Amino acid sequence: MEPIGIVGGGLAGLHLALYLQKNGIGATLYAETTPDVQRKKRLPNTASHWRNTRERERYLAVNHWDGMTVPGHDEEFGNHCFHFYLGLPDGALIFRGDHQAPGITVDQRLITSTLLEDFENRGGQVVVGPVQAEDLDGLTTRHDFVVLSAGRGNLTEIFPRLPEHCPFTQPQRLICTGLYHGISYPDPVGVGLNAVPGVGELFEMPFFTFEGMKMALLFELVPGGPGEVLMETRPEEDQKTFEQNVLGFLREFMPKPLERLDPNEFGILSPSDVLQGAITPTVRRPYAQLDNGRWVMAIGDLHCVNDPLLGQGSNAASQAAFIMGEAIVRDGLAYDERFCHGTAERLWQYAGDVTAWNNYFLQSFQIPPGPAVVQFLLAAAENKTVADIFSDQFADPQANWNIFASFERTRTFLQRHGCATPILDQVLSAPR
Ligand SMILES: Cc1cc2nc3c(=O)[nH]c(=O)nc-3n(C[C@H](O)[C@H](O)[C@H](O)COP(=O)(O)OP(=O)(O)OC[C@H]3O[C@@H](n4cnc5c(N)ncnc54)[C@H](O)[C@@H]3O)c2cc1C
Repeated sequence: MEPIGIVGGGLAGLHLALYLQKNGIGATLYAETTPDVQRKKRLPNTASHWRNTRERERYLAVNHWDGMTVPGHDEEFGNHCFHFYLGLPDGALIFRGDHQAPGITVDQRLITSTLLEDFENRGGQVVVGPVQAEDLDGLTTRHDFVVLSAGRGNLTEIFPRLPEHCPFTQPQRLICTGLYHGISYPDPVGVGLNAVPGVGELFEMPFFTFEGMKMALLFELVPGGPGEVLMETRPEEDQKTFEQNVLGFLREFMPKPLERLDPNEFGILSPSDVLQGAITPTVRRPYAQLDNGRWVMAIGDLHCVNDPLLGQGSNAASQAAFIMGEAIVRDGLAYDERFCHGTAERLWQYAGDVTAWNNYFLQSFQIPPGPAVVQFLLAAAENKTVADIFSDQFADPQANWNIFASFERTRTFLQRHGCATPILDQVLSAPR
């Protein structure tokens, strides 16, 4: 048996397995299903990979979707910018922020099935079938160390929730995401970010599907708000009503995408290309000692699961895989409490900032919207450099959290870029 066991063949598990393989450390990957079964599953998410994750994919030589051209556009396929359409109380803000290098959004079923085949074709060992908590005693005696990246079944119970790191006990958004035809891409090709406080957000993402280049619409809906209509009908029960509900919601609350939408062509690719649900953001302690005395660790969503509002989960899962991989390669002398503590700290340094930034925006884009976010977006609409930095730093969430971690930080950042900050001046001069 290989020295490392990895449970879960999502992005976290696969990037760790491929990282160790590249660095000459054997790993067995326990994947729930075969690549063929993965390809036929329901759409699991609509995750964008920013340039940081794309760089890691190039390092792992799994950048299979680089360099595709888009008919009718100059840019290669990907997310070159954000097109912001923000319905703030005092009027709409429409502006663009460019990325230094494009992100990309590819169907995760395509990514994980292909990467699992890559790992196996390069000599990696794969065991197919679900793992349960009661299997771990056996697994940990077969490997020097076991890393878990699978958040279903009773595996989550091993890692205690840390409410001090993430206070939510219920979802902050309802999620309705799906793959559509009948919407063309904006120019330059990029993600449309529509947001209306109290209603929710819509991400329009150029998306590479099993059928080629289409559009993903990810609705993030405020619970109790008018967007709940999108959760009422399941497309497998009544596809037409579901699609009519989407069109009606766009017309009433987020009309910008309609400029590129052909109503005769508009529709979902298939009912299994739609996902409706909700996530309670949760942070868990990423290590645990089993009854047999062996230590195990968690990475990816099993460690920290965030609402997809800022599109960070896959990117953080990939980053966590690399942090874990480096720890194993560089100082895996013993997989004991010291190893777990040290690695957990390094994981949290990144994941903690992602979680804080994500939770901050979940709470700021309500009614009334948070003053720092309003001030920042007003400035970004006027100042392209500010818009570009914010957009590009989706690939560097720690840098974006540096800007928002306090009102003082946001104000100083904006002033350094020559922006007036009357809203924050007022908030900061008030007695607190
Ligand atoms: C609608 C939506 C949109 C999103 N958008 C973005 C985005 O734009 N950008 C971004 O970065 N992130 C985004 N995310 C988040 C992202 O999808 C997740 O954070 C990411 O997939 C986590 O990867 P993971 O490997 O940790 O977990 P998962 O992807 O959940 O993978 C876990 C794997 O473990 C397997 N498994 C489960 N249970 C068991 C078991 N008992 N035994 C063995 N295997 C098991 C599963 O089959 C799966 O393969 C989005 C999520 C959603 C829902």
